[in-house]
Amino acid sequence: MTSTFEAPYSIRTSKAAGSGMLSTALTQLDEAFQRLTLDEGLRSIIRQSERELTVAVPIRRDDGTVSVFTGFRVQHSSARGPCKGGIRFHPVVDLDEVRALALLMTLKCAVVNLPYGGAKGGISVDPAGLSEYELERLTRRYAAMIMPILGGKRDIPAPDVNTNPRVMAWFMDTVSMIEGQLSPEIITGKPLELGGSQGRVEATGRGTAVATVEMLRRLGRDPKEMRVAVQGYGNVGFYLAEILEREYGCHIVAVSDVSGGWYNPNGLSLSAINDYLAHYPGSFLSSYASNGHMDRVSNQELLALDVDVLIPAAIENQITALNAEQIQSGIIVEGANGPTNFEADAILRERGVHVVPDILANAGGVIVSYLEWVQDLQWFFWEVGEVRLRLHDVMQRAFEEVWSLSEREQIDLRSAAYMLAVQRVGEAIEARGIFP
Ligand code: NAD
Repeated sequence: MTSTFEAPYSIRTSKAAGSGMLSTALTQLDEAFQRLTLDEGLRSIIRQSERELTVAVPIRRDDGTVSVFTGFRVQHSSARGPCKGGIRFHPVVDLDEVRALALLMTLKCAVVNLPYGGAKGGISVDPAGLSEYELERLTRRYAAMIMPILGGKRDIPAPDVNTNPRVMAWFMDTVSMIEGQLSPEIITGKPLELGGSQGRVEATGRGTAVATVEMLRRLGRDPKEMRVAVQGYGNVGFYLAEILEREYGCHIVAVSDVSGGWYNPNGLSLSAINDYLAHYPGSFLSSYASNGHMDRVSNQELLALDVDVLIPAAIENQITALNAEQIQSGIIVEGANGPTNFEADAILRERGVHVVPDILANAGGVIVSYLEWVQDLQWFFWEVGEVRLRLHDVMQRAFEEVWSLSEREQIDLRSAAYMLAVQRVGEAIEARGIFP
């Protein structure tokens, strides 16, 4: 592998990604309905968002001028509980993308059986173009503008792409100032000192690691003999690689970020890479000097490596009809949201590749967000061991439920996960009835 690293380092470039993601999610939803015997009216309800808010968010820039950014909050469903979903700051955020992600949140919460519905929010902005103070003003103004539809029993945001515990702290403080009372339960992913949960930062990676190992067990494969490639070495990829290696003995043979990655068929020295990244925060893998022990790989090459498990943990639409035939791994675990598009999914299914779908595989983040909310509501906080144990139990049970359904119906795991989730959401709507 001799490719040069990839540039420019931009996460996503296409506005069309949002509508593509929405149509994929809706097609998968329709397929689930075909397998279920639910009232046809339920399909019309679940295909649409319950409530959509678009806001024009003005901020005063540091130079005294004014800029206005477009923000969104979409509540897809509150049938099973308060709406739940992250907030992303990114230039290509648009209404269709937020709609698709809100729908996926409804299904994700349902498949792991959390008492939540689904939502998503975002602002169409490049945060790299803002100063720290501008980012804070943007966050606070956006929080104030969407606040009328939020609440610990209505809709609880969380971090997503380009938002982090610091942004969550500004958000929580804004709502608390306006309400005149401390409201930690309004948002999750907060810093520990403001009612955040132990184990939240690693949660999605840990949950994806648990899903990977559950898959391996069902196939009779020994984790210690597995060669794993991870695309995306951010929050999800970093923790899942570390946990798979340290706690389950897997061999991480390749990792990448937006700049490209590194490959060694005998296993990477993750600790050396991690030491480098810790020493030079914000640097890309491309700038790491490997001393010849590893080969460079492009992201496309990484996806096609001869490995046992491939974990796309970066961004959406990475596995498409263009590269699905080249994938050699027999197991794909979707750490990212929507990394496999609809056409690729059909090709992989045809080829007998086992795909653990995003709505199950990366649910660890929302599971620990739920645990954070529960701790906030009771003002009583747990040790990290308790959080990990509960996360593990929820993931293991959800995996078993999806696996058994897929065996019973003779369908792939994605179809089973959608079926289970749609069934649960549909039953909740039916049980509640249609108001008035
Ligand atoms: P992150 O920003 O921390 O990391 C993303 C990683 O992907 C970075 O290493 C980045 O360099 C890399 N990347 C970006 N563009 C790429 C490209 N074109 N090709 C290859 N690599 C690329 O983000 P994250 O929080 O780790 O999220 C990753 C994925 O997981 C996203 O799809 C996100 O929606 C999903 N997810 C995250 C969480 C969470 O709790 N963080 C929860 C559920 C799902």
